[in-house]
Amino acid sequence: MSTIIHLPKGTRDILPSEIHKWYHVEAVIRRLCDDFGYREIRTPVFESTDLFVRGVGDTTDIVQKEMFTLTDAGGRSLTLRPEGTSPVVRAVLENGLYAGPLPLKVYYNPLTCYRAEKPQAGRQREFHQFGVELFGAATAAADAEVILIAYELFRRFGLAERLLLKLNSIGCPDCRARYRQALLDFLRPHAEELCETCRGRMERNPMRVFDCKSEICQGIAAGAPLILDYLCDDCAAHFEQLKETLTALEIPFEVDASIVRGLDYYRRTVFEFVSGEIGAQSTVCGGGRYDGLVEELGGDPLAGIGFGLGIERLIMTLDSAGYEFPPLPGIAVYVGMTDASLDVLTTKLVTSLRRAGISAEKDIVGRSVKAQMKYAGKLGVRFAAIIGGDEVAAGTVRVKDMQGGEPFEAPLDRFAEVIAEKL
Ligand code: ATP
Ligand code: MG
Repeated sequence: MSTIIHLPKGTRDILPSEIHKWYHVEAVIRRLCDDFGYREIRTPVFESTDLFVRGVGDTTDIVQKEMFTLTDAGGRSLTLRPEGTSPVVRAVLENGLYAGPLPLKVYYNPLTCYRAEKPQAGRQREFHQFGVELFGAATAAADAEVILIAYELFRRFGLAERLLLKLNSIGCPDCRARYRQALLDFLRPHAEELCETCRGRMERNPMRVFDCKSEICQGIAAGAPLILDYLCDDCAAHFEQLKETLTALEIPFEVDASIVRGLDYYRRTVFEFVSGEIGAQSTVCGGGRYDGLVEELGGDPLAGIGFGLGIERLIMTLDSAGYEFPPLPGIAVYVGMTDASLDVLTTKLVTSLRRAGISAEKDIVGRSVKAQMKYAGKLGVRFAAIIGGDEVAAGTVRVKDMQGGEPFEAPLDRFAEVIAEKL
């Protein structure tokens, strides 16, 4: 016997026994996006590597250590998408979507993402994101709308009180230039203590230290100057307005100046929703404004803001909150037979049920009548019937109510109609 081949490290099967959770989450998300006027977009699983190097940024953890990159037969470098924003921006440019009515509102759900990280609870190499991207609106009201989408999703799941919204502004290139200098002045004396990655990218992008997972880097970052003290007047006013709007909408938040987000292209507003219940990998949703990205990827300037939300982490949060996912409907009817010669007739009967929207199963294994009834019991069907020679002769079959109701006769030529009336 040959040995079984296991799934690759950091990946997971989503089994029939848990698929109802995914269907439910996906359906709630789709409804939410419909309610907010967002339309779904689907992009390829792989893109040119350059897209992520430019769109995510070559000083980020994603580009420096986490990409699954391959070379195709033509020598082109391709990368499995680690995130959804840069592919969406590429699609917006490629298809000229910026020329349609603005703002442009799109979402993806669920999008598989690939990152070569160390697998642990809440961190996989293949995982799924729901995300929204809003283009052509640079106002604080647009920031509030995007945050409100995530908040409303959590509210619909009864999680609003279990997740904390953390908010920050990382300013614009103007404020960041002044801040960068202050941060560098602070970090340089610590350079030897920083992890190798942070040391290597410190001069080019010192803010990355806030996002580093190393405890030593985090300890150093805790004493660093904060971007909020360096915002220009416009960025400060934008941030004030967003905070006022969220307060007026009664969306609780906490300003956390250490949130800089992992991607290079963010401007001004950045935010995360953090769960207190799913362990160390607690950020369920992260997002922010990326007004420079469309230009970075070759387009005319176009404001953008969005978020990515980890569906595995959302389901973990729902599970730990004891959320009751609606189960999938079971099989309604089992039609058995006494003899294989009745197979075609039995198939026609279950087909009439299925066409009437009533789920039905029949024997395809060649079981005895007793074993068929036992199987019907395991399926948990509502009704079961066995077709035999007598039933064919009489043109009618006795249907057993497996949930304790009275048995009844159903004529074979009106089988689906009679069952439908009883369901
Ligand atoms: P983290 O700090 O946990 O590494 P990140 O900043 O890299 O997160 P984003 O790029 O903002 O994450 O992705 C958005 C969301 O996608 C995260 O908040 C998280 O819920 C989810 N996510 C990111 N990486 C993973 C992963 N490896 N496995 C499962 N979910 C993930
Ligand atoms: Mg990460």
